[in-house]
Amino acid sequence: MTTPQTTPLPPFPAATVLGYPRVGPAREGKRALEAFWAGRADAATTAGELAGLRRRGRARLAALGLGEQAAVPSDASRYDAVLDLAVAVGAVPARFSHHVRRGGGLDLAGYSAVARGEGEHAPLEMTKWFDTNYHYLVPEIGPGTRFHLADDATGDGPVALFAEALSGQGLHTRPVLVGPVTFLLLSKGAAAGDPHPLTRLGDLLPVYAELLAALRRAGAAWVQLDEPALVADPAGTFAEVTTGQVLEAVRTAYTALGGAAAGEERPQLLVTTPYGGALEALEVLAQTAVEAVHLDLVRGPEPDALPAGLAGKALVAGVVDGHGIWRTDLRSALARLQRLRALAEGVGARVGVATSTSLLHVPHDVALETGPDGTPVPGCTLPPEVLGWLAFADQKVGEVVALADLLAGGAGDAGPTDRSEAAEGTLAASDAVQRSRRESAGVRVASVRERVAALRPSDAERGPYAEREAAQAAALDLPPLPTTTIGSFPQTREIRAARAAHTRGQLSTEEYEEAMRAEIADVVALQERLGLDVLVHGEAERNDMVQYFAEHLAGFGVTAHGWVQSYGSRCVRPPVLWGDVSRPAPITVRWAQHAQSLTPRPVKGMLTGPVTILAWSFVRDDEPLADVAAQVALALRDEVADLEAAGIGVIQVDEPALRELLPLRAADQPAYLDWSVRAFRLATSGVAPATQVHTHLCYSEFGEVIGAIERLDADVTSIEAARSRMEVLAAIAATGYPRGIGPGVYDIHSPRVPSQAEVTELLSAAVEVVDPRLLWVNPDCGLKTRGYAEVVPSLEHLVAAAGEVRASLAQRV
Ligand code: GLN
Ligand code: ZN
Repeated sequence: MTTPQTTPLPPFPAATVLGYPRVGPAREGKRALEAFWAGRADAATTAGELAGLRRRGRARLAALGLGEQAAVPSDASRYDAVLDLAVAVGAVPARFSHHVRRGGGLDLAGYSAVARGEGEHAPLEMTKWFDTNYHYLVPEIGPGTRFHLADDATGDGPVALFAEALSGQGLHTRPVLVGPVTFLLLSKGAAAGDPHPLTRLGDLLPVYAELLAALRRAGAAWVQLDEPALVADPAGTFAEVTTGQVLEAVRTAYTALGGAAAGEERPQLLVTTPYGGALEALEVLAQTAVEAVHLDLVRGPEPDALPAGLAGKALVAGVVDGHGIWRTDLRSALARLQRLRALAEGVGARVGVATSTSLLHVPHDVALETGPDGTPVPGCTLPPEVLGWLAFADQKVGEVVALADLLAGGAGDAGPTDRSEAAEGTLAASDAVQRSRRESAGVRVASVRERVAALRPSDAERGPYAEREAAQAAALDLPPLPTTTIGSFPQTREIRAARAAHTRGQLSTEEYEEAMRAEIADVVALQERLGLDVLVHGEAERNDMVQYFAEHLAGFGVTAHGWVQSYGSRCVRPPVLWGDVSRPAPITVRWAQHAQSLTPRPVKGMLTGPVTILAWSFVRDDEPLADVAAQVALALRDEVADLEAAGIGVIQVDEPALRELLPLRAADQPAYLDWSVRAFRLATSGVAPATQVHTHLCYSEFGEVIGAIERLDADVTSIEAARSRMEVLAAIAATGYPRGIGPGVYDIHSPRVPSQAEVTELLSAAVEVVDPRLLWVNPDCGLKTRGYAEVVPSLEHLVAAAGEVRASLAQRV
């Protein structure tokens, strides 16, 4: 059943991508926003810069071959697409209502206030977007939220962006909206005790219908509604909602949106399901009037049958990985497309070619990594051979276009006689990439593989904790409630300037290292003066806790321009893990040794854990992640052994990303937790009982991972707890957690200096729920983003508070 349209609309394009990076090849978007926030640019200038970035992005996509109507997505955002949808449907929290313009919409200052907070008004909470490193803003929906369509007078809403492309460039784009089911599932109540936002679906749908009608009036033939929530497992991801409720919401939503509003035409609808398999949702969507459904065939399974309800619809096959950076094996992708087309023809559906997800998660263009002569530009450490295996956003657009051509029975613009030859050429070039990757010496290293294959269970086990505890107490001789920090000290302007000068070649390696050694000496002296018990070297020499290790491990390389958006204007440049991993030489040992040589107090060696290294890198797709993790773990195990041999008696292995990689579906979670815990234990189990292993986890919501944390078997675990006022500690204590625990007593995310009384109060609360003998005293996280003006008094208060609580404990006994 399809909606009668008075105007015939074009079929779904043969090739498209679900979305395009918003950063800009030179991070223009970041610069424009940050200039506005810093007051260096006014709103009009910034809006002009963002419009230019959008225009160039669309032109680029068209030039790369997305020529058909609706093939270029219109998915730009000033900060985040979930926030955009909230603004478009009038769901701006009441505390920001003074920013909402008459008729709805927010200007850049108001929009920024919601995204980043303003004075006393906290911003929307930010959290991870499915299992990616992108973070979205969590809408707040309460019974009082009155959904209504914003009139978009600020020119940043979906209708305005569509019109901008059409009138400015003559481009018929495809507006992209977060779908209603995902929008509500990702929202939270406006206040504690509010019913789940999904209960508001019936009120929200008419506003979506209005928005769709407005897009049609502006000329849109197709609109994309992103529904990644359909691939997640409600049990694992959306605590209060069942799979049945989600599927029912899908049925309700798309039955309603598929029917025409009275007297109104609507655009044709594509519903996408990126980041996993969504075959149950496909069954439901097939029964509605939506004209196209997307499946993620990179992460999700290939269907072996299609619902008859797909007759007359387009099945959009996400066969090019939008989330990874490897070139697609075009021959196998084509075979998959051909199988799907045979199934689709059986039910009377058409097949379109697309990416599995938006290209938001990959950098713009591999070509930026090489100079005119084909050699890598300064800052890129990937061998040219490896660069040839990579596809960033622009290359992936080319792959989608090539696959659509191949599926249509030819290649590109070639005449009919040359078509099969050109097609064979495209496939042969792809085969050559795959072969080069398979056969390259660094990809499979026999010695690394033999070592992983030879591992025994005992390699991931330390002796009993009681024995370790006694040996460590004797070796370290620490007071009760020992004080320490999480590792990094402020990365000052001077440190950054020295690193930049070294990169530019203006500072020799000797001079740079001397500057870092002097910095370490200062940090050690400061900690002694403050009276901390377990010191750190401060991590001055590290640009980033993952990149630093990637630069020193075989199998990794870094890019010069491979930036991806983490949230808002914040970008990261993940290293590329392309081959088997090993550690050619010690990495951190001489720095730790230098620090230890300056003080009689124990200095903690500081490493980034295997799971976090993988989570914040682009990983290979030709090996199970569990095996890759074991390789990284063994490289770290070597480092741990060398630190111990160099006299470092306390070693911390940070795993702030342990929860990030947790699979979306509950059924996949135990296997992940098994291999991630094993990797940590492989890295840390080679040491003597007297060596104390610490770990640090960067969050306070443990839920699904609490059992895994226990299984890490670290002697001391530091966690975030200041913001939740130690609530998390009670949950941990309730599990009978038997080893050292350091709940953060000072929130490093804010520049505020906590008073001694405040820290004392938190610590006093902590000793009530946890055996004081297990308790450590530390900040919530590393101090690298803070300045000394805040760090010094905060740590003074921390040390003094620990002293106070120690004294009161001594009186108790
Ligand atoms: N050791 C790191 C630091 O202090 C840990 C950072 C983190 O948890 N993200 O900076
Ligand atoms: Zn942290």
